Amino acid sequence: MKILIATDMEGITGVTTWDQVTPGHAEYARFRKQMTEDVNAAIRGALEAGADEVIVADGHWNGSNILIEDLDVRARLNTGSPSPFSMMQGIDDSVDGVIFIGYHARNGSSHAILDHTWSSKTVANVWLNNILTGEYGLNAAVAGHFGVPVIMVSGDQTACAQVVELLGNVETAVVKQALGRFAAECLSPEVTRKTICVSAERAVGQLTKGDFPNRFALDMPITVTVEFFTSDMADRASLIPFTKREGTRVSFTAQEMTSAYRGFRAMVTLASG
Ligand SMILES: [Zn+2]
Repeated sequence: MKILIATDMEGITGVTTWDQVTPGHAEYARFRKQMTEDVNAAIRGALEAGADEVIVADGHWNGSNILIEDLDVRARLNTGSPSPFSMMQGIDDSVDGVIFIGYHARNGSSHAILDHTWSSKTVANVWLNNILTGEYGLNAAVAGHFGVPVIMVSGDQTACAQVVELLGNVETAVVKQALGRFAAECLSPEVTRKTICVSAERAVGQLTKGDFPNRFALDMPITVTVEFFTSDMADRASLIPFTKREGTRVSFTAQEMTSAYRGFRAMVTLASG
């Protein structure tokens, strides 16, 4: 049983501000430690339930947030950027289940800590075949491409609800109740570590019994539509051949999800200028 733990930082225990997730800020040092501990809790739970291999993907910013010296020695860490699969680095058809740790809601959500979609300065909305989604949907679709289900998510209540709405019966570990974009009622790390560990254990336990949520498999070909915040961003994104432009929206169609994911990342990189 092989588990990929795909991580982000906005949904980590206690995080409520950009400073806490931005390298260079004094607060960041505290919360990368916290991120490592939330991940360790998921590793413990997964191994307890019978996983024999755990891979972690550091998916926030430049992918160098998790402190490898403090990470559970039984896991391997994908770190650094850009990597072929970014937030999902480590995914392939040998993985049995994906756990999302520290996830956040899509841009434009209410009661959602640091809600955004991939780039808080660039992307307003993303649709996969007309399904409005966030990073959770993009990443779940990459897992789905390899036939792998997402079995658990941790984050605020809105991030967890959006994942359940899209994917169905996914285990959730709510670590904070968001009251806005920058305010939340947060549980103590001691409490959230237990919750995350128990959720991961339950999710992997169910997986070993063959009972898991639907894989997120999209109808192919896949049309990706990105709405940018400003028209100059769309100007740059539409330099990519075979894209279609409508105001601040740029779309393209890919034959399968790994190409759709690469095309999306290329558009955002270009648009960010
Ligand atoms: Zn992030």
